[in-house]
Order: sequence, then structure tokens, then C-alpha cells
Amino acid sequence: MDKIRLGRTGMMVPRLGFGGIPIQRISEDEAVEVVRRCIDLGVTFLDTANGYTTSEERIGKAVKGRRDEVVIATKSGSRNREGLEKHLRLSLERLGTDYIDLFQFHGISDFKSLETILDPKGPMAVVEDAVKAGMIRHVGITSHQIDVAKEAVMSGRFETMMFPFNFITCEPAEDLLPLCREHDVGFIVMKPLAGGALDNVTIAFKYLFQFPDVLPIPGIERTHEIKEIVRILEGSLEMTGAELREMQRMRDELGTRFCRRCDYCQPCPQEIPISLMMFADTAVKRMPAERLFTSRFFVDAVDKAASCTECGDCEEKCPYELPIREMLAEQVRYFQEAKERYEQRTGE
Ligand code: SF4
Ligand code: SF4
Repeated sequence: MDKIRLGRTGMMVPRLGFGGIPIQRISEDEAVEVVRRCIDLGVTFLDTANGYTTSEERIGKAVKGRRDEVVIATKSGSRNREGLEKHLRLSLERLGTDYIDLFQFHGISDFKSLETILDPKGPMAVVEDAVKAGMIRHVGITSHQIDVAKEAVMSGRFETMMFPFNFITCEPAEDLLPLCREHDVGFIVMKPLAGGALDNVTIAFKYLFQFPDVLPIPGIERTHEIKEIVRILEGSLEMTGAELREMQRMRDELGTRFCRRCDYCQPCPQEIPISLMMFADTAVKRMPAERLFTSRFFVDAVDKAASCTECGDCEEKCPYELPIREMLAEQVRYFQEAKERYEQRTGE
């Protein structure tokens, strides 16, 4: 597989990486197998996180004896020294390695968090010591908020930026990506399929592969999924007329009512996880019903969303002028109806 230079890390990485969220959903044997098949296909950039439950451990098992073939990227969401030290120790242990190629600060989407991690006595100091000790080779950051991401790039402290990018959430092409190029910061693409909202994989990846220096890391659960993307990469990356028309159709359909997960609408006085709720229908379509409707995670979020007082604070803050109240109500209805059908089917 062709390689690209990941910004000033200088690491040469494949044009396609592996996102380690979905392997939490399958058995350990299946997870180890899918990671190994990805490596066999040349997908040797493996991204995971301390917060992805079993993901690091499973990747660690899959790369046993093959550590030199892969680039391992992981993340910590901790905002303090002690937490970060603990996460780093855990990551090394679970991954079964004595170094991490790319260690990322996870989900830095507000200015306060950015300031906290950059405090000279804060978590960045721990990471810099670990770099000196050879436990970490490169330092990156992940964000969902474009102004915070730009500030992080300009700080000069991060060698990579991971940010959502796809043909619907295409704003990074205008300013964040050029800024990363200017500062020689590697650009890693999260949500290449817009969190599951885009089901035309060919168009989604042809769009991204137009940018020769970005590294998409789709979440992979089954080998056939990565094979499909590798096939796209091996063929002509030029979009056909029909594909361009379809992309436009999807932009028209989703564009005006599509949540970018920027979280500008927060805080909500009712503590409703708005951006999560905007994808409740996708979760219904993509997640196994027995997990979705029996775990508290989504069910609690939907219960909270049902308590929306319609104050409208969120809509005033949404830069995309989404009719959030109306969309939330639709999502709640969709989820509850699907849950009722599931309960009737299973007799629960
Ligand atoms: S309208 Fe609903 S979701 Fe929006 S801020 Fe008010 S309570 Fe929260
Ligand atoms: S509803 Fe609007 S402000 Fe809130 S996360 Fe989605 S796009 Fe951003």
C-alpha cells in the first residue's frame, strides 16, 4: 500500500489506517483475527484509546511478534498528571509494548481543556518526560471543535491532529487542513463515514483520497469492510459523473439537517447529550438490538432527551442553524418505536 508522511512525525504510514472502536463489539478471537488481516493487507497504522475498553488489549494480542510492522496510536482523555501517568502505564501494558508511536490527547474540544493539558506542570509535562524516556515517540491531539483544533495546531506542541472529516463535514478542507500543512502537522481523519451516516463507502473514500496527505482511520469490525476500502484505494480514485451526482444528492439530503458533532450547542440545561442523540437512528440501524436496548448508555440518553424543555438555548448556539428541538423529538420517537418493536419481539 502507498505510504504518506504523517506531518513532522516523519513517520511513513499507509494511506489507510485502522480505527479500533468497533473491535470492542466482537469476541476477542474475532478481534485479534481482524487486526491481523488488516496488517496483512498493509493497514499497519492502528489507532485505539485508553477509553476503548478491550481495544488496546486486543490490538496488543494481534501485534505480538509483529510490533515492528505496525505504528500504534493511542489516546488518553485524562486532564491531569496522575490520570495521564496511569493511562500511559495501562496502555503500554495492554498493548504489550515498551513504546507507543503516537500518543494523543483525546477529545480536546474546548479551550479550557487545551489550556489544562498545556499547563507546564500538567499532563503535557508527563508526556514530554515519557518522550525523553523513549516510551512515547510522537505526540498528537484529537478534537471535534475547529477553533480549538486550530489553536492546538498553532501552539506548535502537537505533531498530529485528528479531526472529523468527510464529504458532509468538509469544513476542515477550507482552513484546518491548510493550517496543518503550514505547520507540518499530520492530519488523521476520524469519522470518514460521518459516524455511520454515509453508507456509500466508495464515494466517501474517493472524496477523502483526493487529499493526498490525510490518513483516514475507519472503525473496522469485519475483514470484508477493510478489504472493500483497500479495493477502492487500488482502483481509480477519480469520481465518475454518477458518483459526483450521488455525492451532491447526499449533500443536499443530509447537508441542511446534519449534525457535525461540534458540541457548540452545549451546555444544555437538561444535560441532554445532543450530538449523541442526533445519531440515535444510526445506532438503531447499525448496533445489535440486544445491546442497544439493554445497555443503559443509549436508553438513558434517550430518556434525558425526552425531558427537553424546548428552551431553544441550543439552537441559538448551533452554527449550522439546525432545528435541534424538532430533530431531537424525531430521534426520540424513532428510538422508542424501535425499542417497543424489540420488546414485543423478545417478550421483554
Ligand atoms: S431546547 Fe432542549 S436540548 Fe436544547 S438546550 Fe433546551 S433543553 Fe437542551
Ligand atoms: S446540533 Fe449543531 S451545535 Fe450541536 S453538535 Fe450538532 S452541529 Fe454542533
